[in-house]
Amino acid sequence: MNYYVFVMKVAHNLYIHVPFCMSKCNYCAFYSFACQNPDWNQYANNICKELRFWAEKLGKIGIPTIFFGGGTPSLMPVDIFERIMNCIKECFCVDYDCEITLESNPGTIDKEKLSGFVSNGVNRLSVGVQSLKDEELKFLGRRHDVKTAISLLDCAMNMGLRVSADFIYGLPNQNVNDVINLSTDINKLGLSHVSMYELTVEPNTPFGKMNLNMPDNDTMAQMYSIIPEYLSLPRYEVSNYAKHGEECRHNQNVWNGEAYIGIGRGAAGRVYYDNAWYEQRGNGELFEKIKNETRAIEKILTGMRTMRGVKLSNDVKNQINFDWLNSHKDLVEIGGEYLHTTDAGLLILDDIIADLTK
Ligand code: SF4
Repeated sequence: MNYYVFVMKVAHNLYIHVPFCMSKCNYCAFYSFACQNPDWNQYANNICKELRFWAEKLGKIGIPTIFFGGGTPSLMPVDIFERIMNCIKECFCVDYDCEITLESNPGTIDKEKLSGFVSNGVNRLSVGVQSLKDEELKFLGRRHDVKTAISLLDCAMNMGLRVSADFIYGLPNQNVNDVINLSTDINKLGLSHVSMYELTVEPNTPFGKMNLNMPDNDTMAQMYSIIPEYLSLPRYEVSNYAKHGEECRHNQNVWNGEAYIGIGRGAAGRVYYDNAWYEQRGNGELFEKIKNETRAIEKILTGMRTMRGVKLSNDVKNQINFDWLNSHKDLVEIGGEYLHTTDAGLLILDDIIADLTK
């Protein structure tokens, strides 16, 4: 008699990291290099090698979303992007409605180049706008001006892409009114997805070496709380706002605890292999089993950042301190199958997570 071992093929989301930028911004602590002329062929070779490694290990799995993040992915020549996309299609089963996001910076991409990316599958563009004031862009060390950013947003929206824009608030000397004005100015852009990040000063950056007059913690908290009152898009995650149905599917899948592969030197993932979870990086340079309990805690950490919250599946329930939960209903509450923070809880999310888990 023949015995067959049934190995379930689990779909994985793909994150592909592009580490190159034209120059480093004054606040940036991301894994990225200022490099005007990267060796793109070498980059594509390395990416394809990693893709093939994981295809061999996991099989021809389904791919519901692909996210090209950076760095500045829009610097990539279109033929290099095409090579990588062809490799992904050879290796895996890309869903017919796969969300394919490209992160971009204004000034690195024009209409013709954007059309090239779209012809090769990009259906969502994320634009690093950061500010709607030229003097702030200069201060942040960005290379573009407001006009260039707005024309990229308009161009992408006119091409029918789903478009998101990133903004930074809480700059030195800013007050709550500045954030109100920023939010109302963003509304005029007609976007369906916006990310609003608070400026944090990281030690090994040009800002970290300056003595900046940052807004104090109370002002930062007021700024954060006032955004949903003025921005016309509802908040669906700590820093993300979108029209219903326009949320970033890639990030939502990752926050919900689905499997994802990180490709490229600056990326890491959570792979589901042979009925177990693994932390993953590179060509298997890191492939380490994660306990189911640890993975459940990770799901709580990311799920609680979303307004919907974390689904109370059995693995999640096992890690929750229900005594603490029942005595802190002002901070966390259960709605249907999900556990989520209240508005008050959202402001102290990190503290809550520590107490909420056993
Ligand atoms: S463009 Fe983005 S990744 Fe590149 S240096 Fe600026 S903040 Fe960092």
